[in-house]
Amino acid sequence: MSPHNPYIVMPRDAVTKIAGSDLSGGSLVLRRVPADDMYVVQTVETGKDIRLPAEVPREYAALRSGDPHHAAQWIRVAPNDAHLHHLFLSRRPDISIGFKEFRELVPGVGDPGNHLGVVVTHDPDLPPELVEAGASEFAGWAVRRSGVEPLAIEIEPEVVGLAQLAGKWPIEQLAANSVMVVGCGSIGSAAAEALAGYGVGRVELVDPDRFLWHNMLRHTLGAESVGRFKVAAMKDHLAQHWPQQTVLAHRRDVVAEAHYIRPIVDRVDLVLCAADGIAPRRVVSHLSRRARRPAILACVLDNGSIGEVIRLRPTPRFGCLLCLRQQLADQGAMDAEADQELDYGTGRVHQPMTAVPPDLRYIGTFAAKVAIATLLESLHGDHTQQVPGEHAIIGLRPAGDLAAPFDLSQAGDVRWSSIPRPRASCPTCSPG
Ligand SMILES: [Zn+2]
Repeated sequence: MSPHNPYIVMPRDAVTKIAGSDLSGGSLVLRRVPADDMYVVQTVETGKDIRLPAEVPREYAALRSGDPHHAAQWIRVAPNDAHLHHLFLSRRPDISIGFKEFRELVPGVGDPGNHLGVVVTHDPDLPPELVEAGASEFAGWAVRRSGVEPLAIEIEPEVVGLAQLAGKWPIEQLAANSVMVVGCGSIGSAAAEALAGYGVGRVELVDPDRFLWHNMLRHTLGAESVGRFKVAAMKDHLAQHWPQQTVLAHRRDVVAEAHYIRPIVDRVDLVLCAADGIAPRRVVSHLSRRARRPAILACVLDNGSIGEVIRLRPTPRFGCLLCLRQQLADQGAMDAEADQELDYGTGRVHQPMTAVPPDLRYIGTFAAKVAIATLLESLHGDHTQQVPGEHAIIGLRPAGDLAAPFDLSQAGDVRWSSIPRPRASCPTCSPG
């Protein structure tokens, strides 16, 4: 197939209209998009002098652009070798067939004069072995008096989106689940995007802040969203990519508005916290424990040299954030909560972090992965995504100079460990 020949796109609606027509051929109107050298089927003659538009779903902006005035032809071929020829010629870009020869193979083809004629042939009874070999029910042709060459044709599939994963990924199970994402900064926005991509049915975003210029470098959102509230802009962004998911936006502060946050924690299956600073993480640890919901806490430490993902499960085997931090302090490890306050500042001055954008996305995606593993295991008894522990330290740009367990020395290294049992005196873990 010559790379210099245009490319034909058939919307699903055009496929249905041609396949359902009683005619043995008719006219087409193509929309031409010159910059991408593409023709999109725009109108199909379905009955004698009845020309109907082929619907292109609104989101396919490029397929709806261009200039809709190019006359073409569709022809239903009797079972013959037309599509076998197409397949053969597609693989031999140096060969074409003569116009006369083509007219014998595809009777009814119009004379292109001195122009390029575009023809779409339809062979509804393609033998399975030809389909196996790569032939298609529809074939495109560039018809010139000097010779006929095959054109690549792309047909809009019946199923697009997450449904394509049916049978290969637990999309139905995860569609029934919901996750609250606290903090829609660089890590939280990446986590939210990953959760939607994994197929979580409902994502509830919580963040009180606006998206501003200093956020842009490390965020999923871009310049178009500057000035907007992060949750609202993220909701729109996710809706564009994952239209089947429900996204709820809460412009709330998890610390100052716990009364508003509590009912959300109660109705979701899991809480993922990527908020900056000590206080929101403590609140999430506490509220999720009280609501008996698992929580995933994600952050970067030591100026972005390592990432940390903590899984808090509300069982007697595992303590809360405070229980983990107390154990680490007893061991002489760095005070990871205070380290975060240093990195992010307390709100008066925004201290620029040195973590690089893809590292933050990596941690956000990693946290979402742990969230998915937890949902599948705890709610669906599906252990195929089981993760090795409750506490992961991830090397991003480690210097190797931190105390254990943060003493990774290589980028890409992941160290898993468990977390301690609840302390008897813990205000979060102790009942009542
Ligand atoms: Zn505790």
